[in-house]
Amino acid sequence: MMKSYHFSCPKCNNNHSFYRYGKDPDGYQKYLCRNCHHQFAPERPRAEGANCRRNYPSCPVCGKASFLHHDYEHYSNYRCCDKRCNHSFFAWKSTAISSPSLSQLFGKHDFKRMRYPVQLIITALSMFYLGKNSFRNISLILRTAFNVKVSHTTISNWCTNFAPLFDDMRIRLMPLLDLNSDEWHADETVVKIAGVKHYIWFVVDSETRFVIGFHLSPHRDSPQAVSVLHEAQKHGKPAAIVSDRYSAYKVPVKSLFDGVKHIRVESFKDDISNNLIECFNKQFKAWYKTKQGFSSYASANNLISMFVFFFNFIRPHSALDGMTPAQVAGLKLSKKQKREFLLVA
Ligand SMILES: [Zn+2]
Ligand SMILES: [Zn+2]
Repeated sequence: MMKSYHFSCPKCNNNHSFYRYGKDPDGYQKYLCRNCHHQFAPERPRAEGANCRRNYPSCPVCGKASFLHHDYEHYSNYRCCDKRCNHSFFAWKSTAISSPSLSQLFGKHDFKRMRYPVQLIITALSMFYLGKNSFRNISLILRTAFNVKVSHTTISNWCTNFAPLFDDMRIRLMPLLDLNSDEWHADETVVKIAGVKHYIWFVVDSETRFVIGFHLSPHRDSPQAVSVLHEAQKHGKPAAIVSDRYSAYKVPVKSLFDGVKHIRVESFKDDISNNLIECFNKQFKAWYKTKQGFSSYASANNLISMFVFFFNFIRPHSALDGMTPAQVAGLKLSKKQKREFLLVA
């Protein structure tokens, strides 16, 4: 009886006559077609693009197929196949997108097993993130005003370790906000971690002042800009993105925000709407100044994420009529929800 196979030769379609022919380098069984002597491994997953239409994105303008015009390390430049359209567009390779530092927080997701009352911890956090108190200062105030002895290291731990708890709240609150607006601003600011220069990449919505995303990195290049912009993209779309003339934003903005205008200003001082982002930068710098640098990357990342949370959801802004950026972006919590979200206004 003829042995039947569940595959056929890709060259001649013979489906009953093969030799087993060892394994390929990845361990898939190979066969030799007895009809045409073609060797193949039927179980092997097809390489992307092999023997089938290439997976190029369709033209965002006319929807027709595109061709690869130029391939770069992190991104590709495609061009519309329709000669009359001829639209040229960029796509960042998904393998070249790393998640922003915001996704690397460590610490506690709840207030369980704390030696001190939650209210005291929240008071200390407010003094640190709303005021510009140092850990030692807070320790001193708690001792003199509340008659509670808490060491400055404990306070430092509180201010660092609850970052995941607040970020969990952020994740639940973000879908309640409307961050689609005329302009988002992208900017970097320099901080020192154990004496080494790092960059914090921010994306701020100019209408609400909401800090949509941040990313902490020792590098200042396009892949870092992609990390923060890719995260921000999940929360809305602006009509324009404003950045300085620094070229790291050029292709990231083009490839992630097709159709969005990229306004590159000589200096942010020339841009009128920029006093909005300035407001965040000023507050951040004033807060950062009191710490004289961070001690480690992980703790810096945690502290910055909490500062941004307090800025977005807790601190009332006088220029926003006493509202928080989140409230301007449409956040309206019921009394019951407010209890659940602690300090969130
Ligand atoms: Zn064959
Ligand atoms: Zn086209």
